[in-house]
Amino acid sequence: MSDAAVLSVRNVSKSFGSRRALDGVSVDVAKGEMIALIGPSGSGKSTLLRSISGLQTIDPGEGRIDAFGGSVQAAGKLSDKVREARKRIGFIFQQFNLVGRLPLFTNVALGSLGRISPLRGTLGLWPSETKQAVMQALARVGIAEYAGQRAGTLSGGQQQRAAIARALVQRAKIILADEPVASLDPVSARRVMETLHALNAEDGLTVVVTLHQVDYALRYCRRVIALKEGRIVYDGPPEGLDRTRLIDIYGPE
Ligand code: ADP
Ligand code: MG
Repeated sequence: MSDAAVLSVRNVSKSFGSRRALDGVSVDVAKGEMIALIGPSGSGKSTLLRSISGLQTIDPGEGRIDAFGGSVQAAGKLSDKVREARKRIGFIFQQFNLVGRLPLFTNVALGSLGRISPLRGTLGLWPSETKQAVMQALARVGIAEYAGQRAGTLSGGQQQRAAIARALVQRAKIILADEPVASLDPVSARRVMETLHALNAEDGLTVVVTLHQVDYALRYCRRVIALKEGRIVYDGPPEGLDRTRLIDIYGPE
């Protein structure tokens, strides 16, 4: 992988039974990029993000995935170093994955569990350094005023920004977000996209985000990668995605 690449995906395939979810995918991601991953439902977007974060193994064979110069997985096996790589990868899900009955503060503090003892966390004995990091992250995503509120009482958009704050407390260097705005109303969706964009543009985080709506991809990302039937069919600037190409990717309306 090249020096500037924080992420390298080489010739990765993934089958579920006879179904090829990924078919020889290769992509390099440089530090500081914000990339939209688009493509119709079932084209392999989630499978690619899950493989990159080591949540899922790839098919045995030539394929390999590296992050920060170390192996995440190769030839269908997770690397011994996968935990190290995972610490620097924050994963954002469509459904937020917060514990609704716990306070927002606690949910975000859970991002530090790789560094402090789980027992201390369970008892709420967060080190002052963690408390500071949590409040800083909540302020960064604009929801510090709700720190003491149960996460389940927040709006969808606020919960998604909480999930992003948790990744910040985790000290993630890459954020992989899988359909983070798919279940949000347009106003909340825009705020979540703006939050991701600010973290990319101002704080230098690398972001890869899968998006249903192509217009968000075009508006917020300088690089768009399109998957179709498990293969990359476009990788370039949003300007190159004209109507003909979009019809090729998604089919006619
Ligand atoms: P996307 O996120 O682009 O909608 P996915 O990566 O979820 O696509 O799925 C790609 C293909 O792999 C689909 O055909 C899907 O049905 C299949 N697939 C994904 N995950 C699984 C799984 N755990 N078991 C079986 N098939 C799966
Ligand atoms: Mg998906």
